[in-house]
Amino acid sequence: MTSKRLVDLLGIGFGPSNLALAIAVSEHNDSFGSTSVSANFLEKKQRFSWHPGMLLEGATMQVSFLKDLVTLRNPSSRFTFLQYLHKRERLVDFIKHKCFYPSRLEFHDYLDWCAAEVTAPVDYGHTVVSAKPVMAGGVAERLEVTARDESTGALTTRLTRNLVIAPGLIPRLPAHLSASARIWHSSTFLDELKQLKQDEPRRFVVLGAGQSAAEITEHLHRTYPHAEVCAVLSRFGYSQADDSPMANRIFDPATVDVFYSAPDEVKVALGGYHANTNYSVVDVALIEELYRRAYQERVAGTSRLRLLNVSTVTSAQERHDHLEVTVRNQADGTSTVLAADALICATGYTATDPLSLLGEVGPLLESDGLGRLAVGRDYRVASDPRLRAGIYLCGGTEHSHGITSSLLSNTAVRAGEILSSVISRQAAQRPAMTESAAR
Ligand SMILES: Cc1cc2nc3c(=O)[nH]c(=O)nc-3n(C[C@H](O)[C@H](O)[C@H](O)COP(=O)(O)OP(=O)(O)OC[C@H]3O[C@@H](n4cnc5c(N)ncnc54)[C@H](O)[C@@H]3O)c2cc1C
Repeated sequence: MTSKRLVDLLGIGFGPSNLALAIAVSEHNDSFGSTSVSANFLEKKQRFSWHPGMLLEGATMQVSFLKDLVTLRNPSSRFTFLQYLHKRERLVDFIKHKCFYPSRLEFHDYLDWCAAEVTAPVDYGHTVVSAKPVMAGGVAERLEVTARDESTGALTTRLTRNLVIAPGLIPRLPAHLSASARIWHSSTFLDELKQLKQDEPRRFVVLGAGQSAAEITEHLHRTYPHAEVCAVLSRFGYSQADDSPMANRIFDPATVDVFYSAPDEVKVALGGYHANTNYSVVDVALIEELYRRAYQERVAGTSRLRLLNVSTVTSAQERHDHLEVTVRNQADGTSTVLAADALICATGYTATDPLSLLGEVGPLLESDGLGRLAVGRDYRVASDPRLRAGIYLCGGTEHSHGITSSLLSNTAVRAGEILSSVISRQAAQRPAMTESAAR
């Protein structure tokens, strides 16, 4: 095991959340050198990528490009989406596009460009496995964080004053199904599709009612003109995402203040009222396109886009060269067995449990009485007073901070808030530092 230097801030994960934080740190250091913050990020992937298994041609962002990694925190940043377009010499053509929602491929390229441009040190291919407090004089001002080097398997340690946890979400399959060469979660869709040993697939089954399910259904139907695509969903059909301007306020940065200070029962109610802005809903343009195709196929008498509604998949048995997928109609109780080349489960994600990464630090953290970590408005987890090092959650705070927790909408502002908290705590601990705040 090798030891490394002490940093002010160590980030777990280098997706958009911690990338936005790395930019905020870099901009702070450029402007306020006397209180500069040293940072290091650990990312288990070998290079930057953002949901690569779902980078489907034609799929668009669900958020305006103006909610990029920086604009809502610092519109004059050199990391705005507009700056990216300018550098790529596409600004003029993008304007003519009249588009607030670029393709995911383009936004991925923007994120990748930011990751390459920002000066923060990122150790790719390093998976954080645990952390422990470094006790000195009865208090822990530092944490020792252990990561596994994915190339060599070796464990390495780093010391930090603050840990920012941004590991994203974990793909969720239905409990009765296991991933295999023919049973895939949507998160690995494109990789698995490339591996599929079938020149002429005959049938795909897609389980789920959300945006990913609809996008995969559309992609398969378009890409394989001779294959049948069966969309299995427990609803009557895909439901439209509410992106009307007033409901969209649930994504505003200022909403986090309202949500955070609301009583628990109001938080639960707000989550319910506005779930249809994000969960199990689909862009209306995509719903209409799928409906149009299904209808035209009926006219032509060649239906290969099949919507199996009010239904679910109860089992999937591997056979020699195919899967047998059993679909149960929940209205009449009948079951149908479909021979399929693959079953794709677009069945969502669960939040990563931060305690699974925190090892011996976990027992020093406070819970909210409902088994969740008690998180302050500044995203810092409340702790035993002996733990002076900061633990911040950058994601996984939907219960306390609202629906934007796992989305991009508030990423820029949240990064600034976390950095401000780190800086002001450090200034308090180190009186020599002059006060400054992250813009
Ligand atoms: C297909 C798809 C499309 C989406 N589109 C939108 C959209 O248009 N608008 C929107 O607002 N939201 C969208 N989302 C929601 C999505 O969660 C956010 O876009 C964004 O990815 C959140 O960023 P993050 O950094 O918090 O998490 P992630 O992007 O998941 O990044 C977390 C990173 O942490 C790494 N990591 C995890 N554990 C460890 C560990 N132990 N050690 C080291 N590294 C680790 C992971 O490898 C990953 O790179 C989409 C989600 C999906 C799946």
